[in-house]
Amino acid sequence: MLATAVSCTADHYPDLEENSSPTDQRELKEDSGNNNNYEIPENEQEKHATERETMPEEEKGAALGKPGTILPELMQHKPNELGEVMILMYHEIGYPESAWRRTPENFRLDLENLYEQGYRAISLMDLVRGNIDIPAGTSPVVLTFDDGNKGNFYYLENNGELEPAPDCAVAIMEKFYQEKPDFGLAATFFIYYPSPFRQTQYIEKKLNYLATRGFEIGNHTFGHTNLAQLNASEIQRELAQHVQATQEYLPGYEVNSLALPYGGFPRENQELLLEGSYEGVAYRNEAVLLVGSNPGFPPFHQKFNSSRIPRIRASELETDGVGLYDWLEYFRQNPHKRYISDGDPHYVTAPETLREFLRNEGLKDKEARFYLN
Ligand SMILES: [Zn+2]
Repeated sequence: MLATAVSCTADHYPDLEENSSPTDQRELKEDSGNNNNYEIPENEQEKHATERETMPEEEKGAALGKPGTILPELMQHKPNELGEVMILMYHEIGYPESAWRRTPENFRLDLENLYEQGYRAISLMDLVRGNIDIPAGTSPVVLTFDDGNKGNFYYLENNGELEPAPDCAVAIMEKFYQEKPDFGLAATFFIYYPSPFRQTQYIEKKLNYLATRGFEIGNHTFGHTNLAQLNASEIQRELAQHVQATQEYLPGYEVNSLALPYGGFPRENQELLLEGSYEGVAYRNEAVLLVGSNPGFPPFHQKFNSSRIPRIRASELETDGVGLYDWLEYFRQNPHKRYISDGDPHYVTAPETLREFLRNEGLKDKEARFYLN
């Protein structure tokens, strides 16, 4: 009951600043620089560096090639790891279909379409940390769900056993993953309290399930509050209380991403979206997600901005030309804009023409290589 009282759906729409056609987005994005990024902790960097050093010397050389050299086996895929990445935004899964609700059948269809068009699911953290490990020729896609509605994750009792209802988002993704393991199993659920997924008796069980299966739990504020209307102390309270509540169910769990309710981006105190504390509870977000409406960039690209990551509405209604299927069509027509993996997580490979957009601090232990096209 509490949950429906603060449901956000219609208010999420539209994000006017981001709202235009895929074509218009090209221009908009050109002047949206402003890098404000976190570095990965040093111990993480060291771990990767060690792995890299253990690679045989001749293997490194063979994979790298000389600058400008065209590697035939790579060229076949036209890798572009400075290309754009879709981060999809879902809300409810259920009936009937609406601007903010996808039916189970249509959600399943989205997964099939993504899979057939060469997209592979990776987690939001893997994207923002640059750990994009998918086969050569495929493209990453990130799935996110806002609000922790019932249709995201719902338990049914079946002969005394609890199991996810077959038409909830978690069960649909699990089933698809069974059938197509190479699609991957990854999504972030941006929940708020006190009743994520709307079955109060199963909150702990569900959060444990998600964490165990590699799904991410993200911050959507404690009470689904518009942060644009809060002062510094209130912003920190809303974000820290979410972390505290999540850790009460999942001790030690790191909440490290934030989706802004209503897309509300505060004019002041923006640094508090990334880091802050309230009454002894600290939080730190490596990614802050907006509501609309275009693809984002990988952390290797200069236009990557961890505190303003755009998302695409996974919907077919009232999308104003910038919904999932508009962008799928856009990337079909403009394949050179799309992130295409080289299949080797040690390298960031892109056409020579994009070299000027390389963001060196996003590389960490990886090496960049460019080919003439
Ligand atoms: Zn919301």
